[in-house]
Amino acid sequence: MRHESFLSLCKVSKDFNVNGSILKAVNQISFDITKGETLGLVGESGCGKSTLGRVVMGVYRPSAGEIYIKGKKLDIKNGKDRFRYAKIAQMIFQDPYASLNPRMTIGDSIGEGMEIHKMYNARKRKERVAELLETVGLNKEYADHFPHEFSGGQRQRITIARALAMEPEFLVCDEPISALDVSIQSQIINLLIDLQKKLNLTCLFIAHDLDIVHYISDRIAVMYLGNLMEIGDSDEVYNHALHPYSQALLSAVPIADPDLEQQKQRVILEGDVPSPINVPKGCPFAGRCRYAQAKCRQERPELIEVKSGHATACHFVKEINHWR
Ligand code: SF4
Repeated sequence: MRHESFLSLCKVSKDFNVNGSILKAVNQISFDITKGETLGLVGESGCGKSTLGRVVMGVYRPSAGEIYIKGKKLDIKNGKDRFRYAKIAQMIFQDPYASLNPRMTIGDSIGEGMEIHKMYNARKRKERVAELLETVGLNKEYADHFPHEFSGGQRQRITIARALAMEPEFLVCDEPISALDVSIQSQIINLLIDLQKKLNLTCLFIAHDLDIVHYISDRIAVMYLGNLMEIGDSDEVYNHALHPYSQALLSAVPIADPDLEQQKQRVILEGDVPSPINVPKGCPFAGRCRYAQAKCRQERPELIEVKSGHATACHFVKEINHWR
């Protein structure tokens, strides 16, 4: 654990019992996020990234491993810890339609958490709601309106205002733009970047779109079948991915320059992601990796730092990347 870490995960796993079988959604994941940093978490749908987001938020209790917040172990069984953490950490969900109560005015939705946590008196809370609406680019007069009166982008702004009402230090954004029209996605991303900088928020940004994750994040972590495959500085992972899975994901990202796009070698991933109920022995990616060898099917590779701050889990990272 790095001393300056805001959040540290140590070998965190999350299993679910599905009709008597164990589904390994998250498998021994460790990483740190420093104060004010944005870590982008990417991977195909079903790779466990949203489950990990919920574990980090305290929604799910980890099956194994430990989570530390500012050096203190998080114990979500402890009611006091849970209540305190619920204020520090806030989540922004994918679907702004489902995450707002249709029967509550947006002013009441934004103010609800402040009331539960006894923040401010009623008059001051009303002022805070007005301030927050303006902070997220909405008219303060909207406080008395209901969610159905707003577009998807406006609703996501409202959920961001609701999260900020708690004066959080940590935001988990779970695919916050994937349900929105492409035309307004960049407005929400830029709003999140502005707020993160202005409020020095620590963020875990979960998405499947590598371009967006690269744009918003200081570091990128790549997940596959519940496992962490690669983690490093955002530019470094985006431009010099080391793991064959990350390389395949990146090869699918379109390049704006049509000449470069034509020259690009796309790596087509064969086969399907194995079921997390029957996780294969060895490297979880072995069944789809064009470099797989016998060792890959026997031994699980550890996540090892191979360049400064850039770690990957692959037995043959040097050979694949042509290092001597
Ligand atoms: Fe491919 Fe083997 Fe590396 Fe896994 S360990 S990514 S199967 S080369």
